[in-house]
Amino acid sequence: MTFDPETATFLIAGPVRIHPRVLRAMAMPSVNHRGDFFHGVVAEIRELLPVLFGAKGRQLILSGSGTAGLEAMYSSLLPADGRTLVLTNGNFGERSDQIVRRYAKNVTTVSAPWGSPLPAAAVRAELEKGDVRAVCVVHNETSVGLANDLAPLVPSIRASGALFLVDGISAVAGIPEPIDAWGIDAVVAGSQKGLAAPAGLALVHLSERAAAALHPGTFYLDLAAHLKSLEKNDTPWTPAVPLFLALREALLVLKEEGLERRLERTHRLAEASRAAVAALGLSLFPEARFASDTVTAIRNPEGLGDPQLRKALEHEYNVLVQGGQGALTGKIFRIGHMGIADWPDLLVTFAALERILGKAGRVPAPGAALSAIVDRMP
Ligand code: PLP
Repeated sequence: MTFDPETATFLIAGPVRIHPRVLRAMAMPSVNHRGDFFHGVVAEIRELLPVLFGAKGRQLILSGSGTAGLEAMYSSLLPADGRTLVLTNGNFGERSDQIVRRYAKNVTTVSAPWGSPLPAAAVRAELEKGDVRAVCVVHNETSVGLANDLAPLVPSIRASGALFLVDGISAVAGIPEPIDAWGIDAVVAGSQKGLAAPAGLALVHLSERAAAALHPGTFYLDLAAHLKSLEKNDTPWTPAVPLFLALREALLVLKEEGLERRLERTHRLAEASRAAVAALGLSLFPEARFASDTVTAIRNPEGLGDPQLRKALEHEYNVLVQGGQGALTGKIFRIGHMGIADWPDLLVTFAALERILGKAGRVPAPGAALSAIVDRMP
């Protein structure tokens, strides 16, 4: 079987597989983005966005990938005075650190090695030193398949009075994001992850406190300008119209499933993936108790690099999974199972993986990985 993008089993860590309804929604002649039809689309999206975030608040749609959303959040919210704390334990945390340093002066970075949990005691110690005005953290570190356990940090962050700014790009609609319970001030979601819309839109949720703290940062991504236009179901600049049409449909698909059910399905797929990984004699990259439910990161077995594993999956079985980033290239591979990913995707992927490992004489218990998945199916 050769690789065919139209029929592939597609489990990269985002963009994810897109429902045909969502694809069809984009196939529309040009519409006037300043006309009634499009204003109606934006109005509907605004009504549906609380389904995505699981919370109500000021919610914005930006044309641009997740990074545009992060740049909008940091440039519009990072305070000119006081300290900003950035927490990192993976590639995207380090990316946030780079963006933050463009817009804030007094930045302290608290890091853990890629794939290790955040050092809670060091974070608390920094907060206790005082004058921290913003805390920036990636909720789900896609690069290492790790969900940061933020709950233990929440009381200290709230006590400090700092703005709590979250990169939720691969978390929203994938793992629980308790926006109100944790008092998150801003969270960025990417269209191409748990929502299963095409790549190219960033969705931003703001608390009332964050909305009041907005200040001009970049021109294009000025969140205050976007909020003002949105009140009239409008956008300040020409929006990515087909993506907005797809967004509306993807939100309807999510609403029909329900956020809770999507989270539950994603969790079950993740548990099944982790069990199948163990059955294949492979090991997870992050500490198992912090393994993400949206993306499973697996260490390459000794002697089997990208060409023997990932490329074989792609070229021989038409299955796409993702490689490692930066220093982890060729050392780990990642299976995304968020959005509308489902049981058949996992069965095909692990069957192909077992075959590849089997041919290399590396399967301890043939059939055990598929059984591990089947046993966890509803
Ligand atoms: N942050 C996280 C946690 C991500 O997973 C990603 C993309 O995978 C990004 C930031 C960057 O988003 P984008 O590539 O959509 O700009």
